Formats: sequence, structure tokens, C-alpha cells
Amino acid sequence: MTEQFDVIIVGAGLSGVGAAFHLQKRCPDRSVAILEAREAIGGTWDLFRYPGIRSDSDMHTLGYDFRPWTQAKAIADGPSIREYIHDTAREYGIEQRIRFGHRVKSAAWSTEEAAWTVEVEHDGVARQLRCNFLYMCSGYYDYGKGHAPTFAGSEQFDGRIVHPQFWPTDLYYAGKKVVVIGSGATAVTLVPEMAKQAAHVTMLQRSPTYVVSRPVEDGLANRLRSLLPARAAYGITRWKNVLFGMLFYKLARRRPARTRERLLGMVRDHLGPDYDIETHFTPRYNPWDQRLCLVPDADLFDAIKRGSASVVTDTIETFTPNGIRLASGKEIAADIVVTATGLELALMGGATLSVDGEPVRMSDALQYKGMMFSDVPNLAFTFGYTNASWTLKADLVARYVCRLLNAMRRKDLRQVTPRIGAAALTPQPFADFSSGYIQRALAHLPRQGDRRPWRLNQNYALDVLALRFGSIEDEMVFSNPAPRRESRAA
Ligand SMILES: Cc1cc2nc3c(=O)[nH]c(=O)nc-3n(C[C@H](O)[C@H](O)[C@H](O)COP(=O)(O)OP(=O)(O)OC[C@H]3O[C@@H](n4cnc5c(N)ncnc54)[C@H](O)[C@@H]3O)c2cc1C
Repeated sequence: MTEQFDVIIVGAGLSGVGAAFHLQKRCPDRSVAILEAREAIGGTWDLFRYPGIRSDSDMHTLGYDFRPWTQAKAIADGPSIREYIHDTAREYGIEQRIRFGHRVKSAAWSTEEAAWTVEVEHDGVARQLRCNFLYMCSGYYDYGKGHAPTFAGSEQFDGRIVHPQFWPTDLYYAGKKVVVIGSGATAVTLVPEMAKQAAHVTMLQRSPTYVVSRPVEDGLANRLRSLLPARAAYGITRWKNVLFGMLFYKLARRRPARTRERLLGMVRDHLGPDYDIETHFTPRYNPWDQRLCLVPDADLFDAIKRGSASVVTDTIETFTPNGIRLASGKEIAADIVVTATGLELALMGGATLSVDGEPVRMSDALQYKGMMFSDVPNLAFTFGYTNASWTLKADLVARYVCRLLNAMRRKDLRQVTPRIGAAALTPQPFADFSSGYIQRALAHLPRQGDRRPWRLNQNYALDVLALRFGSIEDEMVFSNPAPRRESRAA
């Protein structure tokens, strides 16, 4: 007998646990199972174990809309976030719905059956489960491999090369010379943290990223929490941070030159007039063409000022037995090299999809409201904002899925499919973002349209209007192509 559920959620990370909460609350009569490939809750916040792992968003927006973040630190370390997800799963009885060690390999939709048949691998054995609605909360990157460009001569290096996605538990770096290759959030996190123990840490970047220092603690949030009930304080801080983030983003897009000057000015204030900001902290792109990198309490700048860390902007020519030789001819000595070179993007957790026997090619599909795909019935996915916290979108998608499921129940219809209507539409790339992991994957990603509801809003306020209060009928077809057996007999 194939086990059957109303909804299968794939992934027990931040999004999957949140999705299960919303389903339990808003669609309490639906059966829900969560399939998780790994043996742990938490996704990203369990997988990544490198020194200093932390959020670069504030937890008042990276936390769930239904569960206040009550710790003093707004920028939280990885273990605290993992605990928050785990506590949420425990508190709301979500844990027992999770099937650990269940990797989804493929899912096939049958219109006749109004069901997804989900192929799963568990303990090396293939098995099938079925559901009416498939809810992908599988994140956005490949858990099995990070982005690891090949560097000439790396085989002759006498030290150790590690990727942050697979941090070795036996890596001792106290007193060692470390080079961190990269300039993104991971490098900016690792460098000041490793500099506390290493002999020296060099951040080696090909080109700089915008970095901005923010306090680890949000003074207003902590004051509000001492005056108001946790939920009220959280709500106010959340909206304050959402609005500040949106305002800053808008300003950056409208006035890039001014924003750039302001951001570089802040770095200059930290590092002083003699530091070469032009070479090491002035990106070639405009603010918010890529995600900004957070420097909590100026930790990176302090490490540079102390002399325990430094930044080198150059190109790698080759690894040598003792380190790395650069295009400029300079050589950096290293005992350990950390390749903070990024993620490999992967949608749908690497699973393949088909609809009535036809394979779904992601690159042919158009995303619908940032949570479904054209012509793919009864499937939602979670993909957070590029310019704001992931969970802001994840919560909205979860509420929208509940609205859809409840509408299907009211209408007594079993299938819901986004279909492109008659109005003209020009497909565009999925994301207007120049970050490497997006650019590398663009050809495999779905596209977006140039009009609603096919345009991807990178804007929480617009999405609140569209997903919480907007119509669920726009270019969405509710249908019952294969009537249930009971109604056929009637
Ligand atoms: C180092 C790092 C720091 C980050 N910091 C921030 C931040 O500060 N702010 C922010 O907004 N975003 C941040 N992000 C993005 C981050 O991934 C999201 O914030 C959030 O954790 C995503 O949650 P998720 O549950 O959607 O995905 P994930 O955390 O990736 O969880 C997905 C889960 O699905 C499981 N899964 C995947 N494929 C399958 C499959 N085929 N079958 C079964 N299970 C599967 C995985 O094992 C995993 O448990 C960060 C990402 C990284 C890598």
C-alpha cells in the first residue's frame, strides 16, 4: 500500500517547519508529512558548521511571523538559529511529522488521480508516497557539493584546503597562517572569527563586495521587549526592520552613486583615511546588484586594524607547496586555505518533476507569485528574497498555500494550476541579481514575467498585499478533471 497524504512538505529547515506550522493551524484537517533527506532538523543552520557561522539578517525578520525571537542578539549564531527551529518543531508537535533520511528523487503528477507520486530513497531503498499537494521547502542550493572552482597547482599545496560547507571537525587553526578565498558573507564571517586564534588570516578576493557594519544587538528591540509583551515587541521591531530595509533598498536603486559613497564612507570611518578602500572595499557593481555583506559590530574592521587579518585583492595564478602565488607576483604563505567560493544552486532539492508523463523543464516554466510554476498543478516552492530575510517570504507562501487548499476544499476541486492568461507577457530572467550563484544557474532557473502575477516581487509589502489579501483566482485554474469515484457513481 502506498502511503497517502494531503500535503507532503520536502525539507525540515526553516521553511519546512514554518510551513508545517501554518498548515496545522489553518488547514487542521489535512494530513501532512515532512520528508527530510538528512537526519536532522534545521537545514542550512544544521549543515554549516564553520567557525563563527551566523545570520546576516536580523532575527526579527529571519524569525517566523508566529514565534517571536526573544534573544538579545538580533544577529544570531548558527546554533541559536538551529535551536529556534528545533524548539518550534518541538513546541508545535511538528517533529513527529518528519521522516528523516527520506530523500525525494522525483515526483510525478497524475491529473487522472489528482495526486503526486513521490519517489523517495530511504536507507538505500526506493519507495513511493503519494499526496495531493507537494510543497517544496528544500532550499536553494546543493547539499552535496559547494561551488569549488579548480585552482592551478592545488595538488602541490602542502597544507589543507577546506570548503566551508564541509567543515572538518579536526581542523585546528590556532597559530596557523590561513587564507580565505572569497569576499562574500561566508568569507566576511570566517575571517574575523578565525583571526581570534590563527597566526594571521588573509582574505583573498578577486574583487570586493559592499560591506556594512551593524550592531549585533538591536537596542530598540531589547527596550521594547522589556516594556511590552514579547509578541507586540517582536511585531513592532519586525516592521521597523522591514521598512528600514525596503527604504534602504529603494534608495540604493534610485541613487546608486550616493549610496555607494555613503557605504564607502562608513568603511573609511572604521579603517581610517590611510587604508586603501579603493582597492579592497570598492565593488565594481552598484549597491544591491548583489546582497550586501554584514559586518556585525565592525568585527572584520577591528581584526584588520589589530593586524590579525588583512585583505588582498588579486587573482590566483597558482597554488605552491607553501601557499598561493598571485598574478601580481606576490606570494601568500598558508598552512590552511579555505575556499569560501560559494554555493551550487539547486532547485527542488535536486528532484525531477513530471506532469502526466511529461518532464517539467524548469527553464521553460514561468514562476507564479514567487511560489508556483506555470502549468505545474498542486505544487508550491519556497524561495526567499534576495534583498530581505528569507522567512518573510516563506511565511507568506505558507499562508497562501493554506488559502489555496481551503479554497479547493470549499469548491470541492482537487487541482489548482497557474495558467498564463491571454494578456501579453514577456519572459525575463528569474532574478535581477549579479551574484555568482545566481548567474551560474540562470540558464536552469525558471523565468518570470513582466506583469502580475508572473512578476517576482522582491518587495515584502507588495507581497503582503498580493499573497495575504490579493485574489487567489488570478490566472489560476481550479479544476476537477477526473471526478472522484464517489461522485462518478452518484
Ligand atoms: C551560510 C548561510 C547563511 C545564510 N544566512 C542567511 C541570512 O542571514 N538571512 C537570510 O535571509 N538567508 C540566509 N541564508 C539563506 C538560507 O538558506 C535561508 O535563510 C533559510 O535557512 C532557508 O531555509 P529553507 O528551509 O528554505 O532551506 P534549507 O535551510 O536549505 O533547508 C532545506 C532542507 O531541505 C532538505 N532537502 C533538500 N533537498 C531534499 C530532497 N530532495 N529530499 C528531502 N529533503 C531535502 C535539506 O536536507 C534541508 O534540511 C543563508 C544561507 C547560508 C548557506
